[in-house]
Amino acid sequence: MTQIIQTIQEMREVVNRLRQGGKRIGCVPTMGALHEGHLSLMREARKRTDVVVLSIFVNPIQFGPDEDYEQYPRDLSGDARKVEGLVDWIFAPSVEEIYPAGFSTFVEVHGLSEILEGTSRPGHFRGVATVVTKLLHIMQPHQAFFGQKDYQQALLLQKMVEDLNMDCEVVILPTVREKDGLALSSRNVYLTPEERRAATILYQALLTAKSLIEAGERSASVISNAMERMFREEERARTEYIAICHPKTLREIKEIQGETLIALSVWIGKTRLIDNLIIKTT
Ligand code: AMP
Repeated sequence: MTQIIQTIQEMREVVNRLRQGGKRIGCVPTMGALHEGHLSLMREARKRTDVVVLSIFVNPIQFGPDEDYEQYPRDLSGDARKVEGLVDWIFAPSVEEIYPAGFSTFVEVHGLSEILEGTSRPGHFRGVATVVTKLLHIMQPHQAFFGQKDYQQALLLQKMVEDLNMDCEVVILPTVREKDGLALSSRNVYLTPEERRAATILYQALLTAKSLIEAGERSASVISNAMERMFREEERARTEYIAICHPKTLREIKEIQGETLIALSVWIGKTRLIDNLIIKTT
């Protein structure tokens, strides 16, 4: 069985030993309830680094008061079975280990935090940036692997690592999807069978945007209107945002040019899903 480490002290001892032995460390931070998307990050980490540390921590400070922190699926022993042979260590600390009484330091990445997901989820990225800073300090990886599924998060963490001179490369890897295009997410378990069918609309809308751009459409508003119309026809779906933006700054654009990020957040029933696609024009 892959060893599960629960304390910071023990994790540090392992990391120090590995670093002294000249090993390159890859880490994959997750909140558990692992699926193929998470496993794809671990497989890539395996290829690029000598040892892989998976962290599993449902981070309370990145959830808003009305969000699903309590309900979020947790299954440490099931997760450990899924990653057998794929990772060398699992770091699964308790909330008290990461946030002992009196904890009062937070990391904020201004600019990228307040738009898109940040508008819908105030304080979310402050929670993410703070926990990832702590995890990177504890695990001291040479490379940390994140999914494009949460593109804004990955971009913001790249910025944070650069701004704070952290000695770690943030690697962004492609989104893994179900056969019908739905991006894998730990939150998909909340969907009823009807909602699960309806949820394919997210990827269909992204593909519609891609076809429009490939057919020569350059107006962002024409594209987002076409996507909106698709969501209006699906009664279980309610869009929170559809953003057409520059993939580095996340600023909304009016005219498609070069690389474009199409990002969306959509409620399917009581479940909020996000997805995105980066589309290149020549
Ligand atoms: P989470 O446990 O949902 O916080 O996700 C942990 C990491 O897995 C993050 O870097 C996510 O972007 C990544 N991830 C989640 N879903 C997918 C997916 N479908 N494909 C690729 N990476 C993913």
